[in-house]
Amino acid sequence: MKPVDLLVIGAGPAGLAAALTAADCGLSVVVVDENPQPGGQIYRQLSDNPLRDCEAILGADYFAGAPLLQRFATSGIDYLPRTSVWQIAGDNTAYFSGTSSNGPTAPLKARFIVLATGAQERPLPLAGWTTPGAMTVGAAQILLKTAGLLPPRDVVLVGSGPLLYHFAEQVFQAGGTIQALIDTTRAIDKFKALRHGPNALRSPRLLWRGVKLLAALRRQRLNRIVGASDIAIVGESQVSAIEFRVGGKTHRLSTSSVLLHAGLIPQTNFSSALGCEHYWNSQQFSWQVKCNDWFESTRAGLFVAGDGGRIMGAEAAELSGRIAALEIACQGEKISAAERDAQARPLRQAWQRLLAARPLLDTLYPPPAECFSPKDEAIVCRCESVTASQIRSAARLGAPGPNQVKALTRAGMGACQGRMCACVTAALVAETSGQPIDQVGMLRSRYPVKPVTLEEIAGSVPAACGAIGHPR
Ligand SMILES: Cc1cc2nc3c(=O)[nH]c(=O)nc-3n(C[C@H](O)[C@H](O)[C@H](O)COP(=O)(O)OP(=O)(O)OC[C@H]3O[C@@H](n4cnc5c(N)ncnc54)[C@H](O)[C@@H]3O)c2cc1C
Repeated sequence: MKPVDLLVIGAGPAGLAAALTAADCGLSVVVVDENPQPGGQIYRQLSDNPLRDCEAILGADYFAGAPLLQRFATSGIDYLPRTSVWQIAGDNTAYFSGTSSNGPTAPLKARFIVLATGAQERPLPLAGWTTPGAMTVGAAQILLKTAGLLPPRDVVLVGSGPLLYHFAEQVFQAGGTIQALIDTTRAIDKFKALRHGPNALRSPRLLWRGVKLLAALRRQRLNRIVGASDIAIVGESQVSAIEFRVGGKTHRLSTSSVLLHAGLIPQTNFSSALGCEHYWNSQQFSWQVKCNDWFESTRAGLFVAGDGGRIMGAEAAELSGRIAALEIACQGEKISAAERDAQARPLRQAWQRLLAARPLLDTLYPPPAECFSPKDEAIVCRCESVTASQIRSAARLGAPGPNQVKALTRAGMGACQGRMCACVTAALVAETSGQPIDQVGMLRSRYPVKPVTLEEIAGSVPAACGAIGHPR
């Protein structure tokens, strides 16, 4: 494919906004996304949703994406759906898996790249979380949005974070039932969050949405259990129950289905594989890529917009994409620095207002303790079946960080390339060695960041071998 000015990876709010702004400024743009339709996580399947009354079920936030999707659909921007990027080489050539209508997608070189790959759910490695019948809330929401499927009627939702409650409301609106929502947040978390209240008032719409959501769930008589700990999923070949402690007592609920959620973390695979600088954000309990005010990483020409940079929500993600694209247009000599600054000023102000409620949410819904210190028997690396106990042993043997734990145990070496275990592994090494997690460091991601067939690798061999320095 002919080189382009800008490759945008991810067609969620951040990626679409970046692409539209850049194209408006006169840059050539290609957008690629592994989903069959644009929209990302939040606006997934918006243009042909299978639910009969989807507006009432999925809510106004879902439909807020319609104008953005409409503008993208009529923009004429080159768009490759059902296509994953599995590698970005040092010369900014991206390698794809998935076929377009014209056959396999050839590698593409771009002057600038916007990583708008979004967030993933934080893994919650409870004992028994790999048992059939246990999955994440986000996965269940994808089934609802794309196939109109509801969870079983005895489902139990477990963990912390706004998505847990948002999904509960969507299930009720769709006519489903929920046996219980087990929330791991403690009274102390509410108390700690209070100090962020005044600043959060700068984002009143978000707060109002939260208040309305909790009131609606009360009307639905949601069985909400708060302050749970020591959670274990019970069952051999299928989930049969969930056990937890509240107020010093152990409780057990029989169930066939458990949905887990512990908040969101940015997807850092590409920025990590490309050697960008990262830091540990102790407010959001996650590794995040270092970016300047224009969302440019420490690797020149590589921008990270939206939740892939830090968890900010859909509206802020869209604004960050637009701000990044203005800087790209300026570096690409399509607009002047004065034009860039004038256009970016109101966007930046709106972005900061939207972020005002984040510290409140992050403090109110911290991840459950099991995200950092799972029980010994819990599987941490699902791809390679490595338990917390094996990782603790590797740390005791002297592995100073997740990269060395990987060499000793294979944790992080499987198909997901550490997406599910990297953060927990780093936390376990920190716990065992008594060091802060930022000193333990993050797992360096390796290519391919997404599963790819040998045929697809072979198809891009001449270019790929050149890029990684092997003889052709
Ligand atoms: C599971 C889940 C459910 C959520 N549900 C809600 C909700 O109901 N309400 C709400 O307000 N917020 C929700 N959020 C948060 C919300 O989705 C984000 O705040 C918002 O979508 C961020 O936009 P974004 O453009 O940064 O990323 P996203 O919208 O996540 O878009 C990222 C896109 O990148 C694509 N992508 C990633 N990696 C690759 C790759 N290697 N190759 C090609 N494409 C790739 C993905 O397919 C995706 O379409 C959810 C988040 C998650 C993870």
